[in-house]
Amino acid sequence: MLREITSHVTETEGDLAGHGRALDKMAGQLQDVDDFDGVRHIIDQMIDTTKAIIKSGSRLQNRMEVSSKDLQQLHRELEVSQKEARTDALTGLANRRGLEKRLEIERIRARQNNTPFSVILVDIDYFKKVNDRFGHLVGDSLLKGVARVLRSQTRRNDMVARFGGEEFLILLPETDVAGAYSVAEKIRTTLLNKEWTIKESKKSIGLVTASMGIALYDMDESDNSVIHRADAALYKAKAQGRNQVVIQAELAN
Ligand code: GH3
Ligand code: MG
Ligand code: MG
Repeated sequence: MLREITSHVTETEGDLAGHGRALDKMAGQLQDVDDFDGVRHIIDQMIDTTKAIIKSGSRLQNRMEVSSKDLQQLHRELEVSQKEARTDALTGLANRRGLEKRLEIERIRARQNNTPFSVILVDIDYFKKVNDRFGHLVGDSLLKGVARVLRSQTRRNDMVARFGGEEFLILLPETDVAGAYSVAEKIRTTLLNKEWTIKESKKSIGLVTASMGIALYDMDESDNSVIHRADAALYKAKAQGRNQVVIQAELAN
């Protein structure tokens, strides 16, 4: 579309330049004629050329109006594709790229306001078994269901992102580990008490649990170390038997 817009403009610019050269030439000719008819003939030509210039000008204006509409459309399309690039297609949550952007902003905000944020890394327990027993499509539906639970148990200002296959990352602005722990426990018990069934066959999927690791942002960090710490806590939660929440600060180093 951008190519069309520029070709409209350069085309009309070409017209105008051609007319300008013709007018110059006629002005030169005007110096050399001495009879009245000759002068009139050149002036008639100059009037015709001037009319053509006016026409080109208004055509350019029309084209510019069309172009500005095209540019607005282009801008809208760009916004949509930027949003898509930051969204996970399956769950509608933010994807890794969306999360990275938000983390950048939250790091700055945390330092400015001196209020750190917490993260919860969530990993569904034995998710592979669900795929193996019920198929990949049921696995996909379960991921969407878990994503809904995570959204429903967090605030608008929190970010829930799909971190990887069956892993999610929750970013809790202005929240300490105690606050994050209560959110994580709420999520854990909500998942535990849910009856998961396959819509079509009404077959039960059985218990679905998740393990979680919590870490607090350290004001000096300019990278994503907080996620690595949450991952270490998650690893511990898995090792201790799953379906539990571990806070990284409480791990013995
Ligand atoms: P653990 O309790 O140790 O976390 O066991 P797990 O089975 O949940 O973990 P594991 O890492 O062994 O397996 C994760 C599985 O998630 C394997 C992969 O096929 C599946 N998976 C990843 N992404 C998707 C997806 O988009 N859809 C579906 N249906 N499955 C996925
Ligand atoms: Mg995993
Ligand atoms: Mg898992």
